[in-house]
Amino acid sequence: MTGSRTTLPGTHVTDHAPCFGDPDFAVADDRWKSGEDLVAICKPVLYVCGGCPYRAACIRQVAPAKSGFTGICGGRIWLNGAIVQALPDTKPSELPPPVIRKSCGTAAGSRAHRRAVEQQCPRCEPFYRPGPNPLDEEDQEGTQQLELPDFP
Ligand code: SF4
Ligand SMILES: [Zn+2]
Repeated sequence: MTGSRTTLPGTHVTDHAPCFGDPDFAVADDRWKSGEDLVAICKPVLYVCGGCPYRAACIRQVAPAKSGFTGICGGRIWLNGAIVQALPDTKPSELPPPVIRKSCGTAAGSRAHRRAVEQQCPRCEPFYRPGPNPLDEEDQEGTQQLELPDFP
Protein backbone atom coordinates (compact mmCIF):
# COMPACT_ATOMS: atom_id res chain seq x y z
CA MET A 1 0.00 0.00 0.00
CA THR A 2 1.28 3.57 -0.70
CA GLY A 3 0.03 7.09 0.02
CA SER A 4 -1.21 7.37 3.58
CA ARG A 5 -4.72 8.67 3.97
CA THR A 6 -5.58 10.62 7.06
CA THR A 7 -9.02 9.06 7.25
CA LEU A 8 -7.57 5.55 7.28
CA PRO A 9 -4.32 5.71 9.21
CA GLY A 10 -1.76 3.25 7.96
CA THR A 11 -3.46 2.54 4.64
CA HIS A 12 -1.01 2.93 1.81
CA VAL A 13 -0.50 3.50 -1.88
CA THR A 14 -2.57 5.10 -4.62
CA ASP A 15 -6.28 4.54 -4.95
CA HIS A 16 -5.43 2.31 -7.92
CA ALA A 17 -3.72 -0.20 -5.65
CA PRO A 18 -5.67 -3.42 -5.25
CA CYS A 19 -5.51 -3.13 -1.46
CA PHE A 20 -6.61 0.49 -1.17
CA GLY A 21 -8.74 1.03 1.93
CA ASP A 22 -8.74 -2.67 2.87
CA PRO A 23 -8.59 -2.97 6.69
CA ASP A 24 -6.80 -6.31 6.44
CA PHE A 25 -3.74 -4.55 5.00
CA ALA A 26 -3.27 -1.84 7.60
CA VAL A 27 -4.40 -3.81 10.61
CA ALA A 28 -5.84 -1.88 13.55
CA ASP A 29 -4.09 -2.53 16.86
CA ASP A 30 -7.24 -3.79 18.55
CA ARG A 31 -7.61 -6.63 16.03
CA TRP A 32 -4.57 -8.65 17.05
CA LYS A 33 -2.62 -9.54 20.17
CA SER A 34 0.08 -11.86 18.88
CA GLY A 35 2.01 -12.24 15.66
CA GLU A 36 -0.01 -15.37 15.02
CA ASP A 37 -3.27 -13.38 15.12
CA LEU A 38 -1.78 -10.91 12.70
CA VAL A 39 -0.67 -13.56 10.24
CA ALA A 40 -4.13 -15.17 10.46
CA ILE A 41 -5.66 -11.86 9.35
CA CYS A 42 -3.10 -10.97 6.69
CA LYS A 43 -2.07 -14.26 5.12
CA PRO A 44 -5.37 -14.89 3.29
CA VAL A 45 -5.06 -11.56 1.44
CA LEU A 46 -1.29 -11.39 0.96
CA TYR A 47 -1.68 -12.90 -2.52
CA VAL A 48 -3.18 -9.57 -3.65
CA CYS A 49 0.33 -8.07 -3.58
CA GLY A 50 1.44 -10.74 -6.04
CA GLY A 51 -0.04 -8.95 -9.01
CA CYS A 52 0.51 -5.44 -7.73
CA PRO A 53 2.79 -3.16 -9.77
CA TYR A 54 3.46 -0.84 -6.81
CA ARG A 55 5.46 -3.12 -4.54
CA ALA A 56 8.68 -1.13 -4.33
CA ALA A 57 6.79 2.17 -4.26
CA CYS A 58 4.61 0.79 -1.51
CA ILE A 59 7.60 0.04 0.71
CA ARG A 60 9.22 3.37 -0.14
CA GLN A 61 6.12 5.31 0.85
CA VAL A 62 5.13 3.41 3.96
CA ALA A 63 8.73 2.91 5.16
CA PRO A 64 7.45 0.05 7.35
CA ALA A 65 10.71 -0.52 9.20
CA LYS A 66 11.04 3.15 10.18
CA SER A 67 7.39 3.63 11.02
CA GLY A 68 7.05 0.36 12.94
CA PHE A 69 4.27 -0.63 10.56
CA THR A 70 2.01 -3.62 11.23
CA GLY A 71 0.07 -5.16 8.36
CA ILE A 72 0.74 -5.89 4.68
CA CYS A 73 3.04 -3.77 2.59
CA GLY A 74 4.90 -4.62 -0.59
CA GLY A 75 4.19 -8.34 -0.64
CA ARG A 76 5.28 -8.81 2.96
CA ILE A 77 3.54 -9.12 6.33
CA TRP A 78 5.15 -6.73 8.83
CA LEU A 79 4.94 -6.83 12.60
CA ASN A 80 6.06 -3.62 14.29
CA GLY A 81 8.37 -2.88 11.36
CA ALA A 82 9.85 -6.40 11.00
CA ILE A 83 9.02 -8.85 8.20
CA VAL A 84 7.35 -12.02 9.46
CA GLN A 85 6.21 -13.49 6.15
CA ALA A 86 6.73 -12.70 2.46
CA LEU A 87 5.49 -13.85 -0.91
CA PRO A 88 7.96 -16.27 -2.50
CA ASP A 89 8.76 -13.88 -5.35
CA THR A 90 9.68 -10.84 -3.25
CA LYS A 91 13.11 -9.44 -4.08
CA PRO A 92 15.62 -7.51 -1.95
CA SER A 93 15.66 -4.87 -4.72
CA GLU A 94 12.15 -3.88 -3.61
CA LEU A 95 13.57 -2.75 -0.28
CA PRO A 96 14.95 0.78 0.20
CA PRO A 97 18.55 1.39 -0.96
CA PRO A 98 21.25 0.74 1.65
CA VAL A 99 22.53 3.44 3.96
CA ILE A 100 26.34 3.32 3.90
CA ARG A 101 27.75 3.11 7.43
CA LYS A 102 31.22 2.88 8.95
CA SER A 103 30.58 -0.81 9.65
CA CYS A 104 29.97 -1.60 5.96
CA GLY A 105 32.04 -4.49 4.67
CA THR A 106 31.64 -6.46 7.93
CA ALA A 107 29.06 -8.81 9.44
CA ALA A 108 27.96 -5.95 11.70
CA GLY A 109 27.38 -3.76 8.65
CA SER A 110 25.28 -6.45 7.05
CA ARG A 111 23.24 -6.81 10.23
CA ALA A 112 22.68 -3.04 10.32
CA HIS A 113 21.20 -3.20 6.80
CA ARG A 114 19.10 -6.17 7.83
CA ARG A 115 17.79 -4.42 10.94
CA ALA A 116 16.89 -1.35 8.87
CA VAL A 117 15.17 -3.70 6.37
CA GLU A 118 17.03 -2.13 3.47
CA GLN A 119 19.10 -3.62 0.63
CA GLN A 120 22.58 -4.91 1.42
CA CYS A 121 25.35 -2.73 0.01
CA PRO A 122 27.80 -4.57 -2.29
CA ARG A 123 30.48 -4.68 0.45
CA CYS A 124 28.08 -6.17 3.00
CA GLU A 125 26.41 -8.62 0.64
CA PRO A 126 28.94 -11.45 1.28
CA PHE A 127 28.23 -11.21 5.02
CA TYR A 128 24.45 -11.42 4.73
CA ARG A 129 22.69 -14.01 6.90
CA PRO A 130 18.91 -14.10 7.33
CA GLY A 131 17.85 -12.91 10.77
CA PRO A 132 15.53 -14.67 13.19
CA ASN A 133 11.83 -14.39 12.44
CA PRO A 134 10.06 -12.44 15.21
CA LEU A 135 7.33 -15.09 15.14
CA ASP A 136 9.83 -17.79 16.09
CA GLU A 137 10.92 -15.65 19.02
CA GLU A 138 7.28 -15.43 20.02
CA ASP A 139 7.02 -19.24 20.04
CA GLN A 140 9.94 -19.45 22.40
CA GLU A 141 8.72 -16.75 24.73
CA GLY A 142 9.85 -17.53 28.22
CA THR A 143 12.82 -19.58 27.07
CA GLN A 144 16.15 -17.88 27.26
CA GLN A 145 17.60 -16.54 24.03
CA LEU A 146 21.30 -16.81 23.55
CA GLU A 147 22.83 -14.49 20.96
CA LEU A 148 25.97 -16.07 19.57
CA PRO A 149 28.70 -13.82 18.25
CA ASP A 150 29.32 -13.82 14.50
CA PHE A 151 32.57 -15.30 13.33
CA PRO A 152 34.09 -13.87 10.19
S1 SF4 B 1 2.20 -4.11 -2.80
FE1 SF4 B 1 0.46 -4.99 -1.70
S2 SF4 B 1 0.16 -3.61 0.02
FE2 SF4 B 1 1.39 -2.50 -1.50
S3 SF4 B 1 0.01 -1.38 -2.81
FE3 SF4 B 1 0.34 -3.34 -3.76
S4 SF4 B 1 -1.31 -4.68 -3.01
FE4 SF4 B 1 -1.17 -2.92 -1.65
ZN1 LIG C 1 26.97 -2.09 3.86
